Amino acid sequence: MDGEPDLWIGGSWRHASDRGTRDIVNPANGSTAAVVDEATPDDARHAVAAARAAFDDGAWRATPVAERATLLNRIADLLQRDKEDLARLETVDTGKTLAESRIDIDDVTSVFRYYSRLIAVQADRVVDVGDPAVISRVVREPIGVCVLIAPWNYPLLQMSWKIAPALAAGCTMVAKPSEVTPLSTIAFARLLEEAFAEASVPAGVVNLVQGSGAALGAALTENPAVDFISFTGGLATGRTIARAAAEHVTKVALELGGKNPHLVFADVRDGDWDTAVDHVLTGVFLHSGQVCSAGTRLIVEEPIADDFVAALAARAAKITMGDGMDPASETGPLVSAQHRAKVESYVQLGIDEGAQLITGGARPDDPALADGYFYLPTIFDRCDRSMRIVAEETFGPILTVERFTDEAEAVALGNDTEYGLAAGVRTSDAARGERVVRALRHGTVWLNDFGYYAAPAEWGGFGKSGNGRELGPTGLAEYQEIKHIWHNTAPTAAGWFKG
Ligand code: NAP
Repeated sequence: MDGEPDLWIGGSWRHASDRGTRDIVNPANGSTAAVVDEATPDDARHAVAAARAAFDDGAWRATPVAERATLLNRIADLLQRDKEDLARLETVDTGKTLAESRIDIDDVTSVFRYYSRLIAVQADRVVDVGDPAVISRVVREPIGVCVLIAPWNYPLLQMSWKIAPALAAGCTMVAKPSEVTPLSTIAFARLLEEAFAEASVPAGVVNLVQGSGAALGAALTENPAVDFISFTGGLATGRTIARAAAEHVTKVALELGGKNPHLVFADVRDGDWDTAVDHVLTGVFLHSGQVCSAGTRLIVEEPIADDFVAALAARAAKITMGDGMDPASETGPLVSAQHRAKVESYVQLGIDEGAQLITGGARPDDPALADGYFYLPTIFDRCDRSMRIVAEETFGPILTVERFTDEAEAVALGNDTEYGLAAGVRTSDAARGERVVRALRHGTVWLNDFGYYAAPAEWGGFGKSGNGRELGPTGLAEYQEIKHIWHNTAPTAAGWFKG
């Protein structure tokens, strides 16, 4: 950034080997926010080699657990110290409001604190094998060299869900943020450098390359020196990475997209109607819908559908869009012109497929927003599962509405997706709520709430939303190998062969 080298390889900062750079665009106004180094495949290979050398050296993975726990806690402290700077970079890069970015940095901090606590208490397992002379135990060891690939919608948050457990486990790693949004991850790497210097962490434990996934992908994912790939992004890229990793039987954790249903039962009329409307609205239009778990499919019970959609549309039309730096903005732009074009093509598709456009469906006409990649909150009613706009992830501010007449139909619709990342259920009938959340095949299900996650609770998808889990104890286990150690303290001959 700003002429400083941005690639962190083997403990030193470098420019790209071909001196290539990339302009990072502020999506709120189309201006160039920064110019950063763009890694080449050779740079990526060097980064993997540095991570491999740091792992094979053995010093880092032998670091006492208590020291790693202290390091993670120190990183959390530095994140809070630099919170405002990191949050500003996140907003300039992604377009999200500064208030959201601040929450993101707090969440990043809590992930480091959580894994600091978890690694400190993780115990090996002693197994009784029926022979008092044998000490048998199951231990966890770091999986090795990890490639960590993150998307652009929650750049530092998604990366932290990988870096924190990888460090806690004693792995070494190469981090690759999205080419569109690398700024917060570069700044975070500088922060890591400071924490690592204080704790004498060996060079090469964390390496950073940023650049085009298409260009760097093979160097990172087909590399036999890599032991584990953790990827968060779209389904198509996930498939490519899984295929690439298969060559060397490299373990892969995929955290992919979602097409998340929000089921609303008619009994919300007897409960807190306004909160139900508010949660559906927030669930889909926060961050202009660029959220993997956004509740983009409203599945609402017929008797209340007209009123519920009308209430939603009235509030959607009042959402204040603007530059995320402006405290008055409630939501920002889409991340790029290219992404807005994709969202616009989905809106056209919805119209062509016969969905009824209720609100939005256009760019805002405010001239102050003309240079940014803004798009109005959009609602389509009278949708059904045959429509691509209902089946495919649009990743923008688009809500589709389907209607149901009984609980079984609601569940069947909620499960009728190739994805399975998240779902919401709203009902004032607790027994029904419990039945429905258990029947839904999604990795996270919110009952009378929407969108929340917590560092100690696993996050991940069923179906084509992925095959990994982040956060919680399972999010640490992804970065660990399990080894069974059988120690016979009084060996005698097996007596099998007599000669
Ligand atoms: P994407 O296009 O799949 O890209 C994700 C990351 O993969 C980026 O860093 C990208 O680099 C890189 N990449 C692209 N091609 C690659 C290749 N051949 N080999 C290796 N890496 C490659 O996804 P996105 O558009 O950034 O993010 C949006 C998607 O992420 C949505 O589908 C969303 O649902 C999903 N997501 C899921 C979760 C979850 O928790 N399950 C969370 C957030 C987002 P470039 O940026 O350079 O292309």
